[in-house]
Amino acid sequence: MDITLFNTLGRQKQIFEPIEPGKVGLYTCGPTVYDYQHIGNFRTFMFEDLLKRVLLYNGYDVTHIMNITDVGHLVSDGDEGEDKMEKGSARTGKTVWEIAEYYTGFFLDDAKALNLLPPTKYTKATDYIQEQIDMVKCLDDKGYTYVTSDGVYFDTSKLKDYGKLANLDIEGLEEGSRIQFSTEKKNKTDFALWKFSPKDSDTKRQMEWDSPWGKGFPGWHIECSAMSKKFLGDTFDIHCGGIDHVPIHHTNEIAQSEACNGKPFVHYWLHGAFLEEESGKMSKSKGEFLRVKTLVDKGYSPLDYRYLCLGTHYRKRLLFSWEILEQAKTAMARLKQNVQQIRDEAKKNFDARDASMPEGEREKFLEAVNDDLNMPQALAVLWGVVRNDKLSSIEKMNLVNDFNRVLGLDLDKDIEAGNTNVPAEIMELVEKRIAAKKAKDFKKADSLRDELKALGWEVLDKKDGVEVKYITNS
Ligand code: AMP
Ligand code: ZN
Repeated sequence: MDITLFNTLGRQKQIFEPIEPGKVGLYTCGPTVYDYQHIGNFRTFMFEDLLKRVLLYNGYDVTHIMNITDVGHLVSDGDEGEDKMEKGSARTGKTVWEIAEYYTGFFLDDAKALNLLPPTKYTKATDYIQEQIDMVKCLDDKGYTYVTSDGVYFDTSKLKDYGKLANLDIEGLEEGSRIQFSTEKKNKTDFALWKFSPKDSDTKRQMEWDSPWGKGFPGWHIECSAMSKKFLGDTFDIHCGGIDHVPIHHTNEIAQSEACNGKPFVHYWLHGAFLEEESGKMSKSKGEFLRVKTLVDKGYSPLDYRYLCLGTHYRKRLLFSWEILEQAKTAMARLKQNVQQIRDEAKKNFDARDASMPEGEREKFLEAVNDDLNMPQALAVLWGVVRNDKLSSIEKMNLVNDFNRVLGLDLDKDIEAGNTNVPAEIMELVEKRIAAKKAKDFKKADSLRDELKALGWEVLDKKDGVEVKYITNS
């Protein structure tokens, strides 16, 4: 079945056609690690995770690159103001390098808690400075740059179709009054490729590198152009981010990449709408914002938030409130209980090798997720299956496990034990061991543990059940 995606470039739904059959190159703009990520940021990362899961569900082999911005993103999306990392350093008393590591750690933990599949590779901007310098050189050689007192700039008037992603009205474009732009810029839309370090030693930067134009640091946009080129090639399939990236960041990525490579940069651009609060857009610069931890501290599971996000299409604004999170929590608990009942019932009549999966239901689910990631509809199909009296418990369980590959709600795990993808014959041994322990036959329990180990499985006793893990060599 075709996958249809809404392409920001051209503003219409299009049938997805990969460059190479069966393969997808995907680049998603990652976090700027000068602070914690808020749940708004994670709404965008979650939509990207759903996109990737839908591609995998359709059998594509996905190469996914996500950058970690640890340098160069200034306080405004333009080229003025302090560097976010240096600002974070001043705020916390840590070095910029410590800041980056510290907040990257929290980002990774939250991403895991929300069941975001890790990308094929995380690329840290500071690990690819040379590639960024090379790209600026390429633009320099082709005559797209000019130098001002504070950096090397891209001359956007030299590119015929600059602004095509955002349909920018270049003639009438007024620079936001908030942003003071460098008076040396030739055009309002020109942007920095390389910024010079300040000359006076009071404001010496912690992150700076030598370049053919002098000591400095890369402009924010160049990292994505350089790293996507390195890992996905000059032209690749899909690029994503939050909707705020359309007019500046992604517009400038396109300009740099297409000017340097002389080829189209990306075929499909997808953008997620914002999570907002009553008081307006959620943003880190406001200082106070909701983190995944804030939700957990208030008794919500990260997956309650995932469920909440699934309920609104990614291109619609989502207004966050504690009421709707509470509703999501209730729905999620009801869903897990229903699924647990189905699982228990299925286990009773168990033949785990019975993989029967009613095609009609699967088709409905696939239709929903392939229609520009219509997750509200996919959830409706899931609930329909859970409540369908005509399906057997085994059919339901198989469908739920299958849908969970896209939804990522842990519906394939038992509520207590959290076990997933464990073959039936292994589960049988695990259950025998649980029974032996209950009967205080510890000798038998130990020998079953050894038997499992010999088969490559480890059983860990937990407060609320057992965890069964495949033993890997890593
Ligand atoms: P940043 O860490 O600021 O670079 O942002 C990481 C990602 O979160 C980017 O794709 C942004 O577009 C996105 N983003 C920022 N604020 C929000 C928000 N309130 N809702 C949804 N996505 C957001
Ligand atoms: Zn980017």
